[in-house]
Amino acid sequence: MVSTAFRSPGDGDNIDQPRRHGLLRHFEPKLEAEYRQFLEAALVVRIRWALGGAVGVLIVYALLDLFVAPKPIMAEVVTLRLVMMVLPLVVLLAASYRERWRASLDTMTGLACLCVAMGAVTLIARTRKLGMPLDYEGVLLVLMYLYGCGAMRLHTAIACGTATTVVYPLAELWAGLPHEQLAMRTLFIVTTNVIGIITAWVLDQEGRGNFLMTRQLRGMAHRDYLTGLLNRRAFAERIDAVWEQAREQQRPLGIALMDVDWFKAYNDRYGHQAGDRVLRAVGRVLARHARGPLDMVARHGGEEFVCVWYDASLEEVEATLAAIHADIAGLGIRHEGSHVPGARLTISIGLHYLQPMPVRTVTEALLRADQALYEAKAGGRHATVVTTGGNVGQDEPAPRKGNGDLPEGVAGA
Ligand code: GH3
Ligand code: MG
Ligand code: MG
Repeated sequence: MVSTAFRSPGDGDNIDQPRRHGLLRHFEPKLEAEYRQFLEAALVVRIRWALGGAVGVLIVYALLDLFVAPKPIMAEVVTLRLVMMVLPLVVLLAASYRERWRASLDTMTGLACLCVAMGAVTLIARTRKLGMPLDYEGVLLVLMYLYGCGAMRLHTAIACGTATTVVYPLAELWAGLPHEQLAMRTLFIVTTNVIGIITAWVLDQEGRGNFLMTRQLRGMAHRDYLTGLLNRRAFAERIDAVWEQAREQQRPLGIALMDVDWFKAYNDRYGHQAGDRVLRAVGRVLARHARGPLDMVARHGGEEFVCVWYDASLEEVEATLAAIHADIAGLGIRHEGSHVPGARLTISIGLHYLQPMPVRTVTEALLRADQALYEAKAGGRHATVVTTGGNVGQDEPAPRKGNGDLPEGVAGA
């Protein structure tokens, strides 16, 4: 399935779009969603590796407990380790393979990490209460893990880390740790948490910076710099996918090549910059007439554009083309050098409307649209010529020609 073959200038990967708000990069909801999507594939893999590693380490610790933990507390220590630390991570690992839990993976990762942290705190406090305390460094390890490998959103990681930092001293207080030691350990835990927050923040900001840069480069590679439309290269890449989908789902395509009339004369008379403004204005008009995610509007080169309408009836496409002629006329751009009566800027359109089939190719369809455009030009310009159906060179309905000024858009020749 092709996702988004056309996006209007101003959204998606427009090269002007990425923003930076001072030192802190944070995106608007739409861009944030795109960022999460961008990260998701890599994140899921990272989360799985991190979880697998953590489960492995915890199991090794549980095995060590069997040998080194004092007998009276061994069963409780091993149980706590397995239930509060290993189990949540295993559940999360399993959830990462379920598509429908993907959306809540960040929250679930946060909860699982919180369980692990609380497990470590409980182990330390409980064993102290029983008179055989385990080392508190386990909490430091958990903090390092959740900020460094947890692959959580920044605020999720900060919430987990800070909750752990607050709960640990309280648990030690309850378990009876002498106050001087408690003060020192609290200081270490707080410092580790602050270092963790800073590290995670730097990673987050760098990740966002990389995302913006990738997005910008993708935009530059796929967008026409002048009009913001898809460029010819992006069109060539996407039309194949749209064509394939239309063939599979047996949907028709309307492929229209459009060319500004007497544009060289326009440049000569009004200057190249004015010509550029015209191309931008024409591009905006065309972009308005794309209806769905599989429609495309691209600058094919120079003053030539290509539009594709997916699964629209011939009547709909013809009506759209008539509306485009009307909108271009509505721009009211004077063009004294044009030989089209009225001295206004106009365009000519060649439409090939067809049902993609295995025996047909995109190249042939574009050639047919180009032939239709040639006929529109030869017939005096400011017109649409429509061809439909079969392969190049085969018998098929005679081209139909229409003048853009006619209200019905395309009339039979
Ligand atoms: P026709 O009606 O037969 O299409 O005539 P035309 O003058 O439009 O066609 P021709 O191919 O002779 O000239 C196209 C002109 O388009 C020549 C070129 O200077 C101009 N052009 C191509 N790209 C740009 C651009 O990016 N900006 C500007 N301003 N002009 C461009
Ligand atoms: Mg032209
Ligand atoms: Mg041309």
